[in-house]
Amino acid sequence: MTLAKEAALDKAMAARQTCPGPCGRRYFHCLPLKTLGSCLECFDGTPADPASAFTEPVRPKGLLIRFVTTGGSYVDVTGHGEHAENNRWNCLGCGDSSARPEQGYLFRIRPDANNHATACRAIPLT
Ligand SMILES: [Zn+2]
Ligand SMILES: [Zn+2]
Repeated sequence: MTLAKEAALDKAMAARQTCPGPCGRRYFHCLPLKTLGSCLECFDGTPADPASAFTEPVRPKGLLIRFVTTGGSYVDVTGHGEHAENNRWNCLGCGDSSARPEQGYLFRIRPDANNHATACRAIPLT
C-alpha cells in the first residue's frame, strides 16, 4: 500500500470516528453520525469513557504516519517520506525508537513501527 492510500484510508476512518462537535474528539469506534450526528456525550450528555477516545498528542513536524499502540499510546514515523532514507520511528509509550543507524526508507521503517505498535503495551503517562 502506498503512503497516499494509507492516508486516504485513515482519513475515511477518521471521518467516521470523529465527533463533529462540540467535543471534536476522535474515538476508537465509529460514531452514530447518521442518527445522532455526534458522539453520545455531545448528544445527550452521557459521559464518554476517556479510554474510548484518542487523546492524541500534538503532531510533530514531518510526521508521516502515527500508529496507535496496543497500550493506547502512539508510534510516530517522521522523516522526509517515501523516497528519503532519513525516516525513523519513535514510540511515545515506552520511549523506544529506531536507532540512528536504522534510519531508512519508509518501506523498511513502516513495518518496524507497525510491529512495535502491535507489541508495545506501555500506556501513555500524560
Ligand atoms: Zn462529541
Ligand atoms: Zn513502545
